[in-house]
Amino acid sequence: MINSKSLLSVVSEFLKALSQKRTYNIKENWYCIFGILWGIPIPVVTIGIDLYSSGSAVNVYNIITKVISHPIHFFFLSHPVIFGIIFGAMGTVRYNKNMEIKEFEKNLINKNEELNKANKKLLELDELKSNFLSMVSHELRTPLTTILGYISFLKTGKAGEMTKNQIESLNISEEEAVRLNHLIEELLDLSKIETGEFKVNLGCVDIVQVVNKATSSLQPLAANKGVVLENNFSEEPPLILADRERIFQVVTNLIENGIKFNKFGGKVCVSANGCSGNSKLRICISDTGVGIEQAQLDKIFDKFYQVDSISKRKYGGCGLGLAISKNIMELHNGRIWAESKIGTGSKFFIELTRYDKKISS
Ligand code: ADP
Repeated sequence: MINSKSLLSVVSEFLKALSQKRTYNIKENWYCIFGILWGIPIPVVTIGIDLYSSGSAVNVYNIITKVISHPIHFFFLSHPVIFGIIFGAMGTVRYNKNMEIKEFEKNLINKNEELNKANKKLLELDELKSNFLSMVSHELRTPLTTILGYISFLKTGKAGEMTKNQIESLNISEEEAVRLNHLIEELLDLSKIETGEFKVNLGCVDIVQVVNKATSSLQPLAANKGVVLENNFSEEPPLILADRERIFQVVTNLIENGIKFNKFGGKVCVSANGCSGNSKLRICISDTGVGIEQAQLDKIFDKFYQVDSISKRKYGGCGLGLAISKNIMELHNGRIWAESKIGTGSKFFIELTRYDKKISS
C-alpha cells in the first residue's frame, strides 16, 4: 500500500523531473517519443469521429474547419505534447533513480574494498601479534627458568649457609618468579591457541587423582588467604576421557580463582555433581567469594577479560585463565560455564565425557 509520505515523494520527484532538460530531450529520452506516439491517436480519432458524424470528406480544409468550429479539438491536438511531457518526466525519474542506484553501488563497492583492505591489515597485525607473543614468551621463559633454578639451589644451602632474612627474601623472590612463570605459560598457551597449535592428548584419566592433586597443591594458598578448601570428591566419580595435564590446569585455575576472589573465612568446595548414569561427568567448583554479575558471566570466558579494572589491580592475573580453560574444554568436546550471585559466591561447572573402554578401544 502506498502511504501519503511515499506519494508525496513520488509527486515531488515528478515535479523535479519536469524542471530537468532531459525530460524534453527527444534524443536522450526515448520515453518522450513514446509519450508523443501514445498521444497522436487521440486528435486523429476525435477529429475523425467529428468528420464521420457530419458526413464530411477527409481533407485539410475540412479538418481545419472542424478544429476552428469546435475549440475542444485544440485540447485533443495538444495530447501528443502533454503525453510526451508526462512520459518524458517519467523517463527522467527512472533515469535519476538508476543514477542513484549506480552511485550507491559504486559507494558500496568502494566501502567493500576499504573493508577488505582493513580486514587484511587486521589479519596481518593479528599474525604479527601472535608471533610477537610467542617470541616474547619464549624469551622470558628461558631466563626465568634459570632464576628459579638458582633460587632453589641457594635454598639448599650448598652455596653457603643463609640467614633467616635471606631465606625470607629468597622465598618472596621465588613466589614472584613462579607467578611470572605462570603468566608466561598462559601467554604461551594463548599464542598456541591463536596459531592452532594448542592440542590435547585424550586418554583414560582418574579424575579423583587430578582433583586431589589440585586441591593439595593449592592448600597452602588457601590457608594463606584464610579460605577453607573442601574436597567433596568421593571415590565414586568414574574415569574420564581427557588430557590429564590440561584438565589439571582447568581444575587448578578454577580452584585458584575461587580462593583468589574470596574473603577471609570463605570456602571453596570441589564436588562431582549430578549426571550419574549418563555418559557425562559434571564437576562443580563453588566459592563464597565476591560473585560475578549476571551480565558478565559470558564475558569472563573472553581472553584478557577481567570483571573490572579495580579487581584487576587488587587480585592480579591477566584474564587468560578462563579463556584457556574454555578452549581446553572445547578440545575435550566438553563444557564450562558459571552461575553466580554478587556478594554470595560463584559456581563453576565443567562437564566431561566418562571413559568408555568400548568406545576408546
Ligand atoms: P584472572 O584470574 O587471571 O584475572 P581468569 O580468566 O581466570 O583470569 O578470570 C577472568 C575474570 O573472571 C577474573 O579477573 C574475575 O574478574 C572473574 N572471575 C573468575 N573466577 C571468579 C570467581 N570465582 N569469583 C569472582 N570472579 C571471578
